[in-house]
Amino acid sequence: LTAEMRAALPIIETLQSGGYEAVFVGGAVRDAVLGLPVHDIDIATSALPEQTMSLFPKSIPTGLQHGTVTVVHQRMTYEITTYRTETEYEAYRKPKGVVFIDRLDEDLLRRDFTINAMAIRASGELYDPYGGLSDLERNILRCVGNADLRFQEDALRMVRAVRFIGAFSLKPAPSAWRSLKRHGALLRHVAMERVQAELDKMMGCKTPERSLIWLRASGLLSFLKEPISEGLLGKLRTESPRLELRGLSQLDERWASVFLAFHCKKEEAEALLLSLRFPNKRIGQIVSIMQLHDWMMASAQVALQEAWICGVLRFGQATAHSYLNIAQTLEQPSGRLTAEEAEQRHAILTNMPAKTLKELAVGGSELQRALDRKGGPWMSGMLTRLLQAVALGLLPNTKDKLLEQAKIWNEEGMNDE
Ligand code: ATP
Ligand code: MG
Repeated sequence: LTAEMRAALPIIETLQSGGYEAVFVGGAVRDAVLGLPVHDIDIATSALPEQTMSLFPKSIPTGLQHGTVTVVHQRMTYEITTYRTETEYEAYRKPKGVVFIDRLDEDLLRRDFTINAMAIRASGELYDPYGGLSDLERNILRCVGNADLRFQEDALRMVRAVRFIGAFSLKPAPSAWRSLKRHGALLRHVAMERVQAELDKMMGCKTPERSLIWLRASGLLSFLKEPISEGLLGKLRTESPRLELRGLSQLDERWASVFLAFHCKKEEAEALLLSLRFPNKRIGQIVSIMQLHDWMMASAQVALQEAWICGVLRFGQATAHSYLNIAQTLEQPSGRLTAEEAEQRHAILTNMPAKTLKELAVGGSELQRALDRKGGPWMSGMLTRLLQAVALGLLPNTKDKLLEQAKIWNEEGMNDE
């Protein structure tokens, strides 16, 4: 048992003392067997959801129709799910209903892959009726049972297959890969949200580069419910950039990096992320990294410092830091920065006299008073212009100098009109 599992033992023991079976299942078991850090711990039990709830007065019925109850123990949350099978799958996506059962081996039988269909008992003993351990040892991803049927039941499993193959350096069992290639088109029945969750986990794993290679080989991206544009699909199919995603700790930096490496346009990336139902905030962040990259690519080498400072002001510091991280991993024609170049830009960023309007020595109301003008859209234009001058080192960030300059610009503006 891992330390995380030992911490959860009291839950298993409570279920057992109530007369029920309870074991660790799913990803935690797989990760423990691999010696990897275990994140969320799932427990399966023969107790019915109501029985589990009566043993844990403070439990939360998070998914009763699937038999799942969440229990909080020493500030950790655990999902406890009643042994179940799934009945008749609806149109290649999800089971119509679940039936609670009292046999662990049948519960494990409904799971997608042998490596995800193992259990660990409180004693630490591994229960592995479908050969998950031997598949793990031989680096094989295999469906539990007939691959054709399992992918037809739930087409999302094909995306999960690619994720696990990449994340754990596996090879698909020939039968699994054959079925996957045969049934790819069934992915059209699966909600984009579910695909997004798997792709995002794929991008977040230790070896996203490897998963992406398998994802491309799978051809699955041609079969999304909301199709990817032909242009983007073509790029993803024909270009094969060298990717270096591991060093990027943020998920959105990894996404932006992939789009940049494949020379995607920002509109193409945005459309894909929207159709995958990414939160707007994340789409904004990813796209803004791409925009800053384009901005820097388009700027003349002579005015580099100026372009960089204006880029930082325009797209924000967080974006600027992400861009510097990514640019070091890109290939040369895509705008690679050497570590030294990135360091220089980093230093410029750090030394900028002001980076945001907040840091500017004057605010909107002072400006209004000094120029004796009514508030209006001119204010943000003027403040931005002042900030740019300060950031570029052309003006000191002091009230008098800023107001003085504002007056000059104001009069020039009046004369122009
Ligand atoms: P991760 O560690 O990345 O979360 P995981 O294996 O725990 O991977 P989850 O999506 O959290 O993946 O699912 C938990 C378990 O539920 C899986 O290990 C598997 O046994 C089962 N499972 C999840 N999704 C499916 C599915 N679509 N079909 C069959 N079984 C599934
Ligand atoms: Mg999990």
